[in-house]
Amino acid sequence: MTYPGFDFYQLNTRLSDAQRELRGQVRSYMEQIVWPAINPYWERAEFPRELALGLKALPIVGGMVHGYGCAALDPLSLGLVNYELSRGDGSIGTFFGVHSSLAMGSIGLLGSVEQCERWLPAMAKMEKIGAFGLTEPLRGSDASHLLTTARREGDFYVLNGAKRWIGNASIADLLVIWAKDEAGGLGGFVLEQPQDMPGVRIEDISGKISKRAIPNANITLENVRIPLENRLAQSHSFRDTAKVLTLTRYGVAWEAAGLAAGCFEIALKYTQEREQFGRPIAGFQLIQQKLVEMAAELTQMQLVCFRLAELMAVQQLNESMVAMAKYNNARKARYIAQLARETLGGNGILIDNHIARLFTDAEAVYTYEGTNDINLLIVGREITGLNAIF
Ligand SMILES: Cc1cc2nc3c(=O)[nH]c(=O)nc-3n(C[C@H](O)[C@H](O)[C@H](O)COP(=O)(O)OP(=O)(O)OC[C@H]3O[C@@H](n4cnc5c(N)ncnc54)[C@H](O)[C@@H]3O)c2cc1C
Repeated sequence: MTYPGFDFYQLNTRLSDAQRELRGQVRSYMEQIVWPAINPYWERAEFPRELALGLKALPIVGGMVHGYGCAALDPLSLGLVNYELSRGDGSIGTFFGVHSSLAMGSIGLLGSVEQCERWLPAMAKMEKIGAFGLTEPLRGSDASHLLTTARREGDFYVLNGAKRWIGNASIADLLVIWAKDEAGGLGGFVLEQPQDMPGVRIEDISGKISKRAIPNANITLENVRIPLENRLAQSHSFRDTAKVLTLTRYGVAWEAAGLAAGCFEIALKYTQEREQFGRPIAGFQLIQQKLVEMAAELTQMQLVCFRLAELMAVQQLNESMVAMAKYNNARKARYIAQLARETLGGNGILIDNHIARLFTDAEAVYTYEGTNDINLLIVGREITGLNAIF
């Protein structure tokens, strides 16, 4: 029952054989296939299509969704998949999170049976890739007050507006665009083959220091015509969008823990092997202080994740519980990445040692799916009853 990763409180013993097997499959893919190949893609800021699409061989796609050929994972397995992907590489992890959770989750949670039947089977096989367009140039944290509009015209909605930071957009076959309708409601509108649609412009953002191996795009929408049946049937208000975000933030809490585990495990190995002053640097008190600090924080992150999975399994997980986990884990991931990088000295800033990649990815994890400030304020609102967000 041993686990090759850091697991001080033996959480491994809480897993079923099937969960352990699944985690091992994802870990092997990341260590054996992704690790040897990912760095040049990261350096060139190029999407590693084959590495990303290789994930379809694992039984993990559409883990949030039951039926339609989706993986239908239990909450703990869902979390473990996120942990292992992000322990390996943040770009691959985010590519998968956008496709499998944000896009497929939106359709699975808010689509009608007909919409699920129409889009999910091909997405589950990764024959079609999904993206999720909520953020706008002028509406980031304030995503509940979007400026993008959907005006009804006969059998169509006509979309106008702009989106920013949209992961997978330039490679997507299906893009969920969130827009305000004339009644003031909010809907998710599915664009099919968006790159080819009249009125849609998708331009990748260059110069990113984080998640460099996946594309994030600016999108403009000018009189884009969408058939009525492409509005997700159960998407009426931001509350519906928030249901998707609660589930995907659950994944991000695990993602942050996985990223931190990757950093810590690299640092532990390196400091045991690297010698200075005639002995391994792990034998020096100051290095041990950093290692123990990382180990203690990581263990707390893991405990938070395992408890969230229990709450989710009994349908008790709510928005503020997830917000606290995302807040806690994202800032600890950033801290651990910083300490781990430091223990590698100069080698810590080279991508060859994998840690520099994880270190920069921690910045995006800290900011997306609700910045740390916003997640903090969601918890603040819950425990005080007072809204300090707006
Ligand atoms: C790598 C990456 C991938 C992404 N992928 C996607 C995607 O696939 N789809 C998508 O829709 N979006 C995506 N995003 C967007 C992401 O969700 C936003 O960046 C995030 O919500 C913050 O919005 P913003 O960047 O506009 O920052 P802003 O909202 O402008 O915030 C700037 C600063 O102000 C603070 N702030 C804002 N409001 C308040 C407040 N009320 N109180 C206190 N402080 C406040 C913030 O915490 C932050 O520190 C991605 C972002 C990144 C970086």
